[in-house]
Amino acid sequence: MNDDVLIVGGGFGGLLVGAILANHGIKVKLFEKKPIVGGRANSIEYKKGYIVDYGIHAIRFSKKGVIPKTFKKLLKQKLKIVDYGEGKLFMNNSWHDLPLSISAIQGTKLLSDEEKEQLTKILAGALTTKIDDDILNLSIKDWIKDKNLSDNTINLVKIITNLLCVSYNEIDKLSTGEFLDGIKKAISAGKGSSYPIGGWKFIIDELVKFINKNGEIKLKSKVDSIIIENNKVKGIVAEDKEIKSDTVVLALSINQVLSLIDRSLLSDDFMNKAKNVVSTCGISIDFGLQKKVSDIDGLICTDNPFTMSCFTSNLDPSIAPDGEQLYTILQPTSHKTINKKEKTSKMIEDIYAMLEKMFPGFNEQIKWKRPIVMPLVDGSTVYTSCHRNKRPSVKSSIDGLYFSGDSYNGVGIGGDIAHASAKLCAETILKDKNIT
Ligand SMILES: Cc1cc2nc3c(=O)[nH]c(=O)nc-3n(C[C@H](O)[C@H](O)[C@H](O)COP(=O)(O)OP(=O)(O)OC[C@H]3O[C@@H](n4cnc5c(N)ncnc54)[C@H](O)[C@@H]3O)c2cc1C
Repeated sequence: MNDDVLIVGGGFGGLLVGAILANHGIKVKLFEKKPIVGGRANSIEYKKGYIVDYGIHAIRFSKKGVIPKTFKKLLKQKLKIVDYGEGKLFMNNSWHDLPLSISAIQGTKLLSDEEKEQLTKILAGALTTKIDDDILNLSIKDWIKDKNLSDNTINLVKIITNLLCVSYNEIDKLSTGEFLDGIKKAISAGKGSSYPIGGWKFIIDELVKFINKNGEIKLKSKVDSIIIENNKVKGIVAEDKEIKSDTVVLALSINQVLSLIDRSLLSDDFMNKAKNVVSTCGISIDFGLQKKVSDIDGLICTDNPFTMSCFTSNLDPSIAPDGEQLYTILQPTSHKTINKKEKTSKMIEDIYAMLEKMFPGFNEQIKWKRPIVMPLVDGSTVYTSCHRNKRPSVKSSIDGLYFSGDSYNGVGIGGDIAHASAKLCAETILKDKNIT
């Protein structure tokens, strides 16, 4: 039996497990079906001089976020990030500061004094809220129902929730505990989000270098099945070859896992939790703009429909040619909508029309555009039905088989879940192998 740990999937979740294990002297072999690693977190040079991520791709909570912290601890280097500037909200055809910080709430013209107090109170309340199962299981709608909030305040709560949880007004389903935990972290960080200089590619490339020191990454290597005998993992099959190992990490979304393993071998606990995990989805459009359209360097939201966007090159000019701009917008939506071509085409047309209202002359400056319909944005929403304690564990009931990625247990939202689960997964493997 080969002692290497085999990792299937070269997204952020797989690469981070690989880097942590390699750092502990374990040899890893990572299999990625595509010609490049990074999965949903990579960025590519889409057009000459334009480095483009998938959607707007922010690092939550800036320097205090989990990714910069891990970077420092594991790779011993400071991740170069740039903080987003003041957020903006385009609502009722006019521009406002996005009321995310206490000072922005106090200054907003969108709320009366009484409403400002309401919003400040509920957001500041996050600091003293204990994140336990009771609050994780409580929907935001139920949480605010006896708070006598005005429609205006509820509308802003929805916008903040949408932004934090990549959602579309689903306060009846979203977990109050996950929402408040995000708010708490944002208040403690004193910052919302930041962007890695050079795009997420920089993070991915550094993890790759680290793995290559004590392991191997095989690109264009699709894994076709996992070998399991007597409830023990024995290896994988890739390109018709069996590769033996007693430790395999599936750094894949749940649907991808179910396509590789006979469901009857997975525990009832895994299957019951897996069926409740709902991914977020949405439409993302990147634009290369031949002239500067706006100086805004913060996140930009609209309320109807909810969208979030950013002139990313205003934060990091290195990702667009001189004098040009990269702008990306994401509209979260439902799975029902994302699968209907006529609906998504209409949504894309509506976004173009909305952008012209937001930035008169925008459409004239478009050099290229990349609309993408994305059925998988974050591997798991943070609904009450699939919050951190209700997603499948990183350790399976099959001996030697582990999971990593943004559909498993691990604290956070989006890429932070992928990060947390990868850390949990690596720590569990080290413990099971008695490596400290
Ligand atoms: C539009 C968009 C915007 C986002 N914005 C943010 C953001 O602002 N902040 C944030 O933190 N997160 C964001 N995310 C989420 C973040 O990108 C993901 O949480 C993270 O990248 C997930 O990593 P992963 O490793 O779990 O999965 P993936 O990145 O999906 O990796 C899985 C990998 O497995 C490979 N694979 C699949 N099947 C096989 C097989 N059989 N054999 C070999 N390889 C296989 C795939 O090719 C892929 O590379 C965003 C995602 C999207 C799509």
